[in-house]
Amino acid sequence: MARLPLDKTKMEAHLQGIITSYSPDAMLPLPDGVLSFTHRLVVELSRDCLAKHQRGLITETYLEDLQQNIETLLQQAGEKSEHEELAFIKELAEKVLCVIPRLPHSLDCLETPEGRAKEEQNGTTDSTEPNTSHQELPKDLIIETSVLANNDQGKSEPPEIDESASNLIRSLDVGRKPCKSHFETSTLISSGTYGTVHLVHHTDTRRAFAMKKIEKQNLFMAEKFQQAFLERDILMFIESPFIVNMVCSFSSQRHLCMIMEYIGGGDCGTLLKYGGPISVNLARLYFAELVLALEHLHSYGVVHRDLKPDNLLITPSGHIKVTDFGLSKLGLMRLTTNNYKAQMEDITKEFLDNEVCGTLEYIAPEMLLMEGYGRPIDWWAMGIILHEFLLGSVPFFGSTTKKVFNAVIKDDVTWNFDNKAPPPDAQDLITELLRKNPARRLGTGGAHEVKIHPFMSDINFDCILSQQPEYIPELVSAEDTSNFEPHSEKHHLMASDEEEDTSEDIGYTVFAPFTSSTKRFSKLCTHTTRMTDNNMEDPKLPPEDSPVSDSDMQRQLFSSEADDEKQRHNDSSDLPSSSTVPATLAQKKQGLTFTRTGQKNDREQGERRTRGSIIRRILSSCRRGLSRAARTIGGGCALVSCRRSSRTM
Ligand code: ADP
Ligand code: MG
Repeated sequence: MARLPLDKTKMEAHLQGIITSYSPDAMLPLPDGVLSFTHRLVVELSRDCLAKHQRGLITETYLEDLQQNIETLLQQAGEKSEHEELAFIKELAEKVLCVIPRLPHSLDCLETPEGRAKEEQNGTTDSTEPNTSHQELPKDLIIETSVLANNDQGKSEPPEIDESASNLIRSLDVGRKPCKSHFETSTLISSGTYGTVHLVHHTDTRRAFAMKKIEKQNLFMAEKFQQAFLERDILMFIESPFIVNMVCSFSSQRHLCMIMEYIGGGDCGTLLKYGGPISVNLARLYFAELVLALEHLHSYGVVHRDLKPDNLLITPSGHIKVTDFGLSKLGLMRLTTNNYKAQMEDITKEFLDNEVCGTLEYIAPEMLLMEGYGRPIDWWAMGIILHEFLLGSVPFFGSTTKKVFNAVIKDDVTWNFDNKAPPPDAQDLITELLRKNPARRLGTGGAHEVKIHPFMSDINFDCILSQQPEYIPELVSAEDTSNFEPHSEKHHLMASDEEEDTSEDIGYTVFAPFTSSTKRFSKLCTHTTRMTDNNMEDPKLPPEDSPVSDSDMQRQLFSSEADDEKQRHNDSSDLPSSSTVPATLAQKKQGLTFTRTGQKNDREQGERRTRGSIIRRILSSCRRGLSRAARTIGGGCALVSCRRSSRTM
């Protein structure tokens, strides 16, 4: 492939300038999740372009893909966000696209007067030569120093904003911006190290949502505030029927809060705990939906890094949605890679940060060994999950962290479960996903590798939502939380959750941009306004407190944006079908349990949880200062990134 005759020094200086000046780590995150996500991706693309350039790997096809990726991204950002910071993103994109000589930019939005003047100036140059004027480092590349970080020790710290500016931000748009008073906290669904998940009600419409609250103090202490912003950004930008939908986010005095659709069917961790292994058909369907979720995430460069049954929610109609992006990492988007084929190393060693994070039994060997990792770690977790779906237990376990660690890196998955062994094609798929070498792992070459595996042959990926799941959760109302883990501590509000009023707003400057809303939030506000205007319930809105009507509302809020995608997936209904007889979780909790595989539940699941809690206890001690356990697990592992004591390292 012909290399382009680019001026190496200028091109690299230009890209380096962009990366240094625009790095998301060096500035306050944008006050809009969609644009913040776009910002991160464009900088990642610049970083990759620079690395490729330094290795002499820039080709025409690479640049074509780069251009297409940026254009697609900007188009989507424009569709999803109306925030004024879109101008900043366009400016950044234009600077990156300057490295692409000759190719006409089809971004109407990039037609700034300055750009047009440059075009006119250079418009008559020979089209085979790179347009060197575009390669010069633009003078305005350096953004306002007030938003650049204090980067003394190589660590980015959020900059200070002067008090009057803070007050101004505070007073602007208070009415329209989402805030704590828009939601009333109800039942506690989950409680982790960094925060909680509650069922909440929108104050005006009384609609149910889920609110994930993260303690700011904990984020400060663990230097994880950028991670919380990334979680928000991913949830705000990514839209898929198989990924939980976000409504808005805001910062309260002590917490960062994310309002999501409430998925009342429980999570797969709870389902497995109380119901044991699931039937082959149900496992196949869940797995296939996860493949689509992962395909979508990976195409945007999102590596989840914490896939496990606890983070897979079951919708009222029995389908799967992935949640919890609290440990996710953003790499290179590959939305448009028609021509340029990434090298294996780009995929398997995309990240060299030596971070070990996730939940031990689901962590891929290359991450444990700190050999560099990439999106194949998610495919590894998929292999563990499929094993757990079908057998009720993870394939690699042990009584100590060290034993689990050794099993993950050394043992082969075995099938000595006699008549409980899964069908041969499922065994083969699990084996292929659990290849220790990520370069040989199924999925590393793309989701299509997994989709065409014989175990998936009954699945029509184009209309998967029209397939009737064998398990439909029972929900007595739209705010029924009985499908989640019952836990005595869980069903009362903890004092710390009710604070907020007296204390100082922690880290206002740093966390203020966390407040962000989607078009779904605007819709919610529109409904509210209509109700207020008419001084009565909006006739177009169904009556409150009806589960069915609430589903309709949820449908209005969450389905419309994904309509195209849902049509592609041919979603016949989002409501439970009465024709399916579900094995309800409530029955299981009362001991009236049966497993959908038709076998008696002999409670390897109990072992799973006991083992899990032992490991969690050990791992939570890792967090508090690289304890004995950390030294055991990593044999000198430098950094154990642990987010939750109860579930995750
Ligand atoms: P953590 O970081 O504490 O693991 P998660 O985002 O995984 O936080 O949420 C914890 C639990 O809360 C999940 O395992 C699930 O049971 C429940 N949960 C999370 N999001 C939702 C939601 N949108 N609807 C219903 N339950 C949810
Ligand atoms: Mg979780």
